[in-house]
Amino acid sequence: MWKHQLLTHFSSMTLFVDEPLSSYTYTKTGGKADILAFPKSKEELSELIIWAKNQSIPITTLGNASNVIVKDTGIKGIVIMLEYINDIRFEDTYVHVSSGMTLIDLSKQVSEQSLSGLEFACGIPGSVGGAIYMNAGAYGGEMKDIVEAVHVIDENGQLKSYTHDEMLFDYRYSIIQNSTDIIIGATLKLEHGNKESILEKMTELNHLRQSKQPLEYPSCGSVFKRPEGYFAGKLIQDANLQGKRIGGVEVSKKHAGFMVNIDNGTATDYKHLIAYVQQEVKRQFNVDLETEVRFIGDENERN
Ligand SMILES: Cc1cc2nc3c(=O)[nH]c(=O)nc-3n(C[C@H](O)[C@H](O)[C@H](O)COP(=O)(O)OP(=O)(O)OC[C@H]3O[C@@H](n4cnc5c(N)ncnc54)[C@H](O)[C@@H]3O)c2cc1C
Repeated sequence: MWKHQLLTHFSSMTLFVDEPLSSYTYTKTGGKADILAFPKSKEELSELIIWAKNQSIPITTLGNASNVIVKDTGIKGIVIMLEYINDIRFEDTYVHVSSGMTLIDLSKQVSEQSLSGLEFACGIPGSVGGAIYMNAGAYGGEMKDIVEAVHVIDENGQLKSYTHDEMLFDYRYSIIQNSTDIIIGATLKLEHGNKESILEKMTELNHLRQSKQPLEYPSCGSVFKRPEGYFAGKLIQDANLQGKRIGGVEVSKKHAGFMVNIDNGTATDYKHLIAYVQQEVKRQFNVDLETEVRFIGDENERN
């Protein structure tokens, strides 16, 4: 009933009913969303949030779905993807960017402006919003190094901003993980640089990524956070778990920190393989591996 009302109320928004999210996730797994919505503007997003709140319909925001495992039972309510909200404005070394832009596109655009500071992120397949939420990082850089302010819409549809300090950034953490806010954009602070050197650095890092990571398969990137004093990939490798397979999901033989979907794997396969690896690493080295990837969706999962 509510789905029909939503379609009528937001007739100009791109909306899909009972949409399989496996078409959108980097792992190529996950059940259906009751509604998948692509608002075209911040105003439309705000209106959708208010409507959902009034109807008590839950909202889940996805960025580029490169760090999530959507459960096989899917996601109840409205799933919002922000890829159409992706404008950008330059003001000297400041970049005002909306959260739907991908880091890959953003790094190309800032390099065109000879702005340096985002090279580390040029191969991370997330959106600006998802990367800020996760404080994504690579090759010695993290989003926290360049974020000046973050702009959000709260659950009442109100706009507000966080300063860099208010974001409480930490390793793969930001305060947004403990709120219901939706990141709609950010102000980044970069530096003037040399365009050739910036492009050279990006090419070098992308080659490194291609040589080390199993990018030919669907995956969610690093499954586990770096435990203090260790590297998750090295522990998994030393535990002889590379090639370990459950269902269609395998611990990558190329990079032990990745789990690749090699044969129609499911979110449940991911869940079981993750638990197996955690158990083995604990047994062999007494180290707890905490997931970096985020499980999203209904609790009533089949086993
Ligand atoms: C091949 C591969 C390589 C990767 N390499 C790296 C790497 O080098 N470094 C690294 O840090 N990560 C890496 N990742 C993981 C992933 O790309 C990052 O975590 C990325 O920042 C996730 O962004 P996303 O837009 O895809 O977020 P999603 O996966 O869509 O979402 C992640 C979380 O953020 C929330 N979220 C997303 N957008 C918003 C928003 N606008 N407002 C509020 N909440 C939001 C979601 O609800 C979810 O909880 C890799 C992944 C893959 C598949």
